[in-house]
Amino acid sequence: MPVKKDKGGNVKNRCMFCGRSESEVPFLMQGLHGHICPDCARVAAQYADEVDGVRKNAGKKAPVMGPAPKPAEIKAYLDQYVIGQDRAKKVLAVAVYNHYKRISHNLDQKPDDGVELEKSNILLVGPTGTGKTLLARTIAKMLDVPFTIVDATVLTEAGYVGEDVESILTRLLQEADFDLARAERGIVFIDEIDKIARKSDNPSITRDVSGEGVQQAMLKLLEGSIVNVPPKGGRKHPEQEFVHVNTQNILFICGGAFEGIQRHIALRKNTRIIGFNAEEKQRISADNLLEYVDAMDLRAYGLIPEIVGRLPVITYLDQLDRESLKRILTEPKNAILRQYTKLFEIDGIKLEIDPEVLDLIVDTSIENKLGARGLRSICEKLMSDAMFDAPGSKKKTFHLTLEYAKARL
Ligand code: ADP
Repeated sequence: MPVKKDKGGNVKNRCMFCGRSESEVPFLMQGLHGHICPDCARVAAQYADEVDGVRKNAGKKAPVMGPAPKPAEIKAYLDQYVIGQDRAKKVLAVAVYNHYKRISHNLDQKPDDGVELEKSNILLVGPTGTGKTLLARTIAKMLDVPFTIVDATVLTEAGYVGEDVESILTRLLQEADFDLARAERGIVFIDEIDKIARKSDNPSITRDVSGEGVQQAMLKLLEGSIVNVPPKGGRKHPEQEFVHVNTQNILFICGGAFEGIQRHIALRKNTRIIGFNAEEKQRISADNLLEYVDAMDLRAYGLIPEIVGRLPVITYLDQLDRESLKRILTEPKNAILRQYTKLFEIDGIKLEIDPEVLDLIVDTSIENKLGARGLRSICEKLMSDAMFDAPGSKKKTFHLTLEYAKARL
């Protein structure tokens, strides 16, 4: 390669990794045979740490699993953090219990025992902001396993702009501090899975980058196989060292709003309902259609059959009503209002809230169509002035009255 020179004929120093010249970077560090810029040095250091972590943990035995918590115990734990959604909690509790049993059964399998328990990934169907992510996160907290959330919409087929599906496992590895054995017992929450449904009614798309291809790519993770994962994430690179992650014992919980799926459920129910009694017909109304969601509806919605087959546990979440939203404000272990009480307490101030204020918060959130997601921002609006004044104030209580709250909203 010809040596690059500047206008004055001097040799231009460049970073050996990114090729930028001295004038394009803050400074260059000189080595025996070349230079490196601070950006590349940082990336190199991070990569070295990660490879180091993987090597250090290589060959580590899988952590010993304690006895599986009983479904009722799992549900009781979830009850502390998640309001309502009883059906989903029960289904989830059983699925997680079975997942535990599966892992221990398959680990100490006797040679004559031909039964291998297959894994049961879970699909949560329900409107946004009803607690799908919260349920998955709470389960992971209870089991003390690595947990990661990924958004299905950023995933693409290998070779396209976006993240490869392997990046999901990279994140799980990072969560597990590169302890492979721990990562292989982790839980992955894949959000917005409905957004990668096949868009079959759009024939102009010759290659459905965001939909079916991603579903195909995701299959190998869901079904339990050895996946080559670049520890640093990003694109696969021939010279990069791979970690071989076995996804057999990783529990995948998928979530999605599946807006409009009611149409498919209604269609199926109507055709099938002939011959059933009028009472059942009546029980099924537009409001509770989601209760009846099953694999066929998901296929009709655009999930490929192989994916549906890998998500055998399907359950639904209810839209949160007024009463539930009110309970969310105060009841969960780290309820929003408990958090504010704590914040004021640290400044030596007692927070008192009139009960009517709770109704106002809930009503405002419903009006703005924000559901549970809106509660926090409304509370923030109500409290921010008081929180500004609190430090250094001589007042020992902050009394949040309806009048004060109305003025703030
Ligand atoms: P989703 O994943 O269904 O879109 P999230 O679980 O992310 O919704 O919920 C958003 C926020 O709303 C949560 O962080 C939590 O504070 C609150 N929330 C939603 N549903 C519930 C619930 N059933 N019980 C308690 N809090 C909830």
